[in-house]
Amino acid sequence: MSKKVIVIGSGFAGLSSASFMAKAGWDVTIIEKLSHPGGRARQLKADGFTFDMGPSWYWMPDVFEHYFSAFGKKVSDFYSLKRLDPSYKIYWQHDTSDIPADINAFRKMLESWEPGAAAALDKFLIEAKYKYEVGMQKLVYKPGLSIKEFIDVSVVKGLVKMDLVTSIKKHISRYFSHEKIRQLLEFPVLFLGAMPEKTPALYSLMNYADIVGGTWYPQHGMHSIVDAMHKLAVQLGVKFRFDEPVTGIKITAAKAESVVTTKSTYPCDAVIGAADYHFIETKLLPKPFQSYTEKYWDSRTLAPSSLLYYIGVNKKIPGLTHHSLFFDTDFQTHGKEIYDNPQWPENPLFYVSATSVTDPSTAPENCENLFFLIPVAAGLNGDDEQLRKKYFNLILNRFEKRIGISIKNNITFYKSFAGSDFVNDYNSFKGNAYGLANTLKQTAILKPSCRSKKVKNLFYAGQLTVPGPGVPPSLISGEVVSEVVIKNFG
Ligand SMILES: Cc1cc2nc3c(=O)[nH]c(=O)nc-3n(C[C@H](O)[C@H](O)[C@H](O)COP(=O)(O)OP(=O)(O)OC[C@H]3O[C@@H](n4cnc5c(N)ncnc54)[C@H](O)[C@@H]3O)c2cc1C
Repeated sequence: MSKKVIVIGSGFAGLSSASFMAKAGWDVTIIEKLSHPGGRARQLKADGFTFDMGPSWYWMPDVFEHYFSAFGKKVSDFYSLKRLDPSYKIYWQHDTSDIPADINAFRKMLESWEPGAAAALDKFLIEAKYKYEVGMQKLVYKPGLSIKEFIDVSVVKGLVKMDLVTSIKKHISRYFSHEKIRQLLEFPVLFLGAMPEKTPALYSLMNYADIVGGTWYPQHGMHSIVDAMHKLAVQLGVKFRFDEPVTGIKITAAKAESVVTTKSTYPCDAVIGAADYHFIETKLLPKPFQSYTEKYWDSRTLAPSSLLYYIGVNKKIPGLTHHSLFFDTDFQTHGKEIYDNPQWPENPLFYVSATSVTDPSTAPENCENLFFLIPVAAGLNGDDEQLRKKYFNLILNRFEKRIGISIKNNITFYKSFAGSDFVNDYNSFKGNAYGLANTLKQTAILKPSCRSKKVKNLFYAGQLTVPGPGVPPSLISGEVVSEVVIKNFG
């Protein structure tokens, strides 16, 4: 008889680990609190609009290809991809820049800002490429359970080159002095949840992912990835239980014996916790079996939470780009309001995704589908509708001014989502949107471990453990943890 594994949560990490476990011959059941798969990447359909509720940037297409190829499939078996050009638009304080997908056009743009920047970019990218390749092949697909994993000649040799100690801010400033170039190259690390001065220069691999790897769009939105992974999991025999929150894990002799839900009890040989790590530890396990204390969790640097708005507009907005970054206010001040002195921001940076620019299927005819995101500190209280409206009006005014067209009276659909919703819907720790920040002190073996220190057959996957936040890392996390389970219990 096959061994049984219960996977808690059907986000990317849960779907990934479940499929790898099923491929290895295990009897797999995913138990999910919500009524559908995808977790933070779930979909909202309303009034003819289809919104991706979480991630909107498709980077690192090679990671998705790697994932599906592990099951003898290709991305194109499930969804089509389009490379966006421009990759995105930046609204600076006084002007805008369309960031071209073509590398030569990108070089020219940098050169026009700072003489010599094109040649500096070439050098910068040689290093970034090295980090991407070594990082992806040798560092990211490791469970981070022991330092020994990283003792491989090429990795040790590479570690020096990997720039673990220098900050990415400093690293970029060695190559470029123009403020726009610096800000443009610092932007990708925001996906990692920390400020550039706190993020290791290793992560210039994200610049390689941005500039060379490109920004892509899966037809019908990011939820196409969820649909694909769900379909694949079903084909592999994974069973799904939706609308069934897990309420506890029964432990006998330091082993998880069964998983208890609001509806049933599931005996198991192993458990993969792919819901928020902190929730599983502190709410599903008796105290003696928790690996980390509340003090430990409180001392972690969390990636930001977000104020999100899903907006339907009943007219087209000429000149709108699929991804727009509003870098028209002071980045440092907003960063301090997120990390150093957590508080509601005075005048935040924000981001807008307009999928209807690329994909008419996400909005009714002659309408636009807009998603606004303001990064805010995790753990702030008071995100009631009044506060949400205040921030929406603030960014809407800035948006209208910069695009030169009023849409206030054309909004036919409005829905907000904030920290308290992250807690209610996903059991998110402090309402974090995307896990733990990838700071130096929270990388690889320094992340919460993907294996419980107290319960022999309990493992963790997802954005609070290795390798970190983001869709590609969540897919990788599922693969890596399933290998650890199979190695120990297969
Ligand atoms: C607004 C936003 C924008 C983002 N943008 C990007 C982007 O553009 N590109 C990118 O790569 N990444 C982005 N990310 C990050 C990325 O979406 C996440 O890192 C990734 O989706 C996390 O997947 P996960 O499987 O770890 O967690 P989750 O998606 O949170 O999955 C966990 C699942 O566990 C379930 N669960 C919780 N408690 C229980 C329980 N008691 N019982 C059963 N189930 C439970 C939850 O309902 C959920 O379905 C973004 C995230 C957010 C929120």
